[in-house]
Amino acid sequence: MQTIAFDVGSIRRDFPVLDQIVDGKPLVYLDSAASSQKPTQVIEAISRYYLRDHANVHRGVHELARRATEAYENSRARVARWLNATDAHEVVWTRGTSEALNLVAFSLGEGLGPGDEIVVSEMEHHSNLVPWQLLARRKGARLRLASLTDDGRLDLGHLASLLGARTRVVSLAHVSNALGTINPVSGIGALVRERSDAVFILDGAQGAPHLPIDVQALGCDFYAFSGHKMCGPTGIGGLWGRKALLEEMPPYQGGGEMIERVYRDYSTWAEVPHKFEAGTPNIAGAVGLAAAVDYLEAVGLDAIHEHEMSLTRRALALLSEVEGLRILGPAEVEARAGVLPFVIEGTSAQDVATILDAQGIAVRAGHHCAQLVVDRYGVTATCRASFYLYNSDEEVDRLAAGVRTASEVLLC
Ligand code: PLP
Repeated sequence: MQTIAFDVGSIRRDFPVLDQIVDGKPLVYLDSAASSQKPTQVIEAISRYYLRDHANVHRGVHELARRATEAYENSRARVARWLNATDAHEVVWTRGTSEALNLVAFSLGEGLGPGDEIVVSEMEHHSNLVPWQLLARRKGARLRLASLTDDGRLDLGHLASLLGARTRVVSLAHVSNALGTINPVSGIGALVRERSDAVFILDGAQGAPHLPIDVQALGCDFYAFSGHKMCGPTGIGGLWGRKALLEEMPPYQGGGEMIERVYRDYSTWAEVPHKFEAGTPNIAGAVGLAAAVDYLEAVGLDAIHEHEMSLTRRALALLSEVEGLRILGPAEVEARAGVLPFVIEGTSAQDVATILDAQGIAVRAGHHCAQLVVDRYGVTATCRASFYLYNSDEEVDRLAAGVRTASEVLLC
């Protein structure tokens, strides 16, 4: 894979959507943690697939069915190489992170019972909390939550104290969408293995788009991710899992594609990963996601992370000058990704986001599907600016100027 020099100007030209005027001002898109924009290369890969190759996969013998199957399975292999998986069959296609985590909670969770413990944290997106609450209810298991430190990190001492012989599952965010914290997941994996026999799951929704990922080095058993947050299309994502575990797990949904043989009152299952992929899959989505991986790897995930750190450093410095502004999450740039949640004390996050929108600046306001986080830090909502490879220093400056204006308007 040829790496291209990091140049925000030329990267931005790959994202035509960024070049537009909103309310008379050039758009500043700072909402990539919710969903990223898509480069022309991804849009064209999807369009090429539909213009030439589309048919249903696996079942046909005709030319288009062959091409579609090849495109679909080659995309899986591409995603497996990006994750450094040992086998392409360890990648299960899902609609995204939420479905991937629900799949594990439902299927792996079948083996849990009363007295078993599931450990998550107060930092989790609802997608990595609610499926475990449902499972705990269904099986009579106990859900335990690791607490957070005042500066927005996992309290590792508390987490360690929750692990033991009863722990069956530990499921944590790689990177927090509501705080920006990058969790020290390899060390946590070692801790989990030292203290328990639990399965270790990572919610990679905010990790996969921004950091080099090597599932073998991370030491986890499952890694969930969403295509739409990493320059790919919506409606596609995946679950990487250790093959031995996937093979032991029962199916998650029934239907076509996932069976080996159907009898009147029972069925046998297809091999992993097809056992977990009931129904006609999102073939074009898989093709688009593989194109997104090609794009991100050509730019270089290390370079993307460096760039986001530089934007975050600039934003932290500029925003810290704004009166009444409080930033959530770790103070050190090295401990955080390009996700910047903030509040202006005495104002509503919604009002701040509305004033920014009037200046063409797109940020998100709310609890960001992490209500336990806003509860923990004593606020009802935050404004969240999130950076990606296509954001520039000038855009960070516009954010800071916009936030200063919001502060002056709302606090006068
Ligand atoms: N986990 C985290 C940390 C997220 O940020 C998100 C989305 O914002 C999700 C899970 C859910 O992802 P999706 O909506 O793509 O399933």
